[in-house]
Amino acid sequence: MLVMSLVGNRPQFVKAAPLSRALRRRGTEILVHSGQHYDPELADLFFDELAIPEPDHALGVGQGTPLGQLAAMLTGLEALVADIRPDVLLVYGDTTTTLAGALCAAKSGVPLAHVEAGLRSFDRTMPEEQNRVTTDHLSELLFCPTPVAVENLAREGITGGVHMTGDVMFDAALLFADAAAHRAGAEQYGLTPGAFILVTAHRAAATDSPEALAALVDVLAALPEPALFPVHPRTRAKLEAAGLWGAANALPRVQLVPPVGYLDFTRLLTQARAVVTDSGGVQKEACLHRVPCVTLRNTTEWTETVASGFNTLTGMDPAKVTAALAGAAIPDSAPDLYGDGQAAERIVDLLVRFVAAR
Ligand code: UDP
Repeated sequence: MLVMSLVGNRPQFVKAAPLSRALRRRGTEILVHSGQHYDPELADLFFDELAIPEPDHALGVGQGTPLGQLAAMLTGLEALVADIRPDVLLVYGDTTTTLAGALCAAKSGVPLAHVEAGLRSFDRTMPEEQNRVTTDHLSELLFCPTPVAVENLAREGITGGVHMTGDVMFDAALLFADAAAHRAGAEQYGLTPGAFILVTAHRAAATDSPEALAALVDVLAALPEPALFPVHPRTRAKLEAAGLWGAANALPRVQLVPPVGYLDFTRLLTQARAVVTDSGGVQKEACLHRVPCVTLRNTTEWTETVASGFNTLTGMDPAKVTAALAGAAIPDSAPDLYGDGQAAERIVDLLVRFVAAR
């Protein structure tokens, strides 16, 4: 079995960590890095810490508009896929890299497998929603993290090749739990475990206009407790361009620091009283680690985090965020929302069977 896996963004490196290992035990993996995330603290650090194999090919697309990046990826990928002719092209999640892989597989006649299929926020203005809907409709194998994802696909008429596998991010959380528990954590920032808020924000809706960025700074200013905000390079660049970086840094209760690696982030998350985020992955991880989550969006594709009482959607509204934080508590019982930590093994089994049957 020859699988070409395509990664390019921080959350995809996390997802690839358990799956690459499992894949390489049962077949050959050619790992391609699109270069969408190229800052060392969003990319190299993850390959090192999570022991992800060195990419076999790097497309090196780097900075650009989403469509410019997409075009560059397609050009690089088309040649690679024609040369290697993998049995399956495997993509993760919902980024420009995911979409590039999907389009290239479809146009090249290579079966496409989508990890994290079926997620829907039902907000088609989100680039991620556009990417995931398109990718799902082009996929032959759709690996769903949750039953809700399977239902979403069925509503769109996609039933063939759909498998409920559980979530590889849960696999990663288990795989690296021990290593994360040994990281330095909150104290190195002068924070007390259990008495600070961890913040992340990087989505287009929070960063793509001066108004949105000003609203983000208002939210930060309203946080009632000490907070730590590892700032995504995109968010930092946009805050600087909008002239708001100084104001954000001057907030008395919020520390802005560079993005941290997965192990450090996991440690901080497990120590935080609550997390305030617009990240998809962090909403889930908060739930997995039983930390209350406040999501700076009005919709989420991870609806079960809200239904289970771990997550509150507030949009970018300071009053709603502070109210949600005041009421944030961990529910007494938590269902296993994201599988049993064996999603990667299940996905590889399905890939082996799919390739053998062709
Ligand atoms: N993460 C990290 N360092 C940080 C912030 C997040 O390692 O400073 C990890 C986090 O644990 C999760 C992933 O990055 O596994 C989420 O990525 P991101 O928020 O960039 O993307 P999304 O999940 O929204 O697509």
